[in-house]
Amino acid sequence: LVGPLDTLTIWVEQLQAAIASYARIEGLADVPREEPRPAADPVDDRIEVADVRFAYDGGRDVLRGVDLVVRPGERLAVIGTSGAGKSTLARLLAGLERPRTGSVTVGGTPVADLSPDRLREQVVLVTQDHHVFHDTVRDNLRVAKPDATDEELHGALEALGARWIKDLPEGLDTEVGTVVSLDGARAQQLSLARVVLADPHTLILDEATALLDPTTARETEQSLAAVLRGRTVIAIAHRLQTAHDADRVAVLEAGELVELGTHDELVDAGGPYAALWASWHGGHDDQDPRREPGAT
Ligand code: ATP
Repeated sequence: LVGPLDTLTIWVEQLQAAIASYARIEGLADVPREEPRPAADPVDDRIEVADVRFAYDGGRDVLRGVDLVVRPGERLAVIGTSGAGKSTLARLLAGLERPRTGSVTVGGTPVADLSPDRLREQVVLVTQDHHVFHDTVRDNLRVAKPDATDEELHGALEALGARWIKDLPEGLDTEVGTVVSLDGARAQQLSLARVVLADPHTLILDEATALLDPTTARETEQSLAAVLRGRTVIAIAHRLQTAHDADRVAVLEAGELVELGTHDELVDAGGPYAALWASWHGGHDDQDPRREPGAT
């Protein structure tokens, strides 16, 4: 009996191994080629602005009792006339300024108290001020993610449609600022590629694509939106098209939040946003919102 039993044992072991590898192959087949991006965490990523007042250097209040909850994963457009306090609100949301009274919290923690690493993970503010270091393209990008592979770096640039990287004499090894100088538009795309690599939960865009020509700006914004799908995006909107496309619109007037709602809700409400929309709309017979020059 011993011989056949030994053989049987070997068969069973082989069968178990075969079942295990089949299960692994089945498992692999079940894993989508691209992992779906984790959804925003409704608790950790919730941004709350509560009764915020803010003044620069003891001057007059430029934000006056602003209350706002930004829902995780939503795209919020902030509009208002020049000097209304849009960029100031953006700086407070990014933890660059502290409110004089009231609070700005992310997941319940005051945003200005987050450690630099945690802040980078949570909220990134992108303005038209960008920094290109006198270094290689690779090192310029790795500022955002020190262990990023070349594939990831190319992926981030390509995701933004920055095809110019292929024309650089030494690709990622090209020294920028010395050997090759990047024009404003390319520098802006380099800076946005850093954001893609940092992959923050919330992105605040304040004239982030201002240096790009309108067509490239629209393409870049679309690429950025695709890359950051599922993330919270707060866009300081200088074009009504941006407000029209957002989930909700916040309207600031002289430091106060005077309206908050969807484009349709605000148009129906007949307030300042509706007036702005109507004045722009009335002047365009072809009703193409992209032709509108600016909301501010
Ligand atoms: P714009 O659309 O023109 O950029 P905004 O709505 O973004 O305007 P803010 O830039 O937030 O408005 O400015 C709000 C107010 O705060 C303005 O009166 C502005 O002059 C003032 N302000 C902005 N930055 C500073 C600063 N660093 N020091 C002092 N006052 C400032």
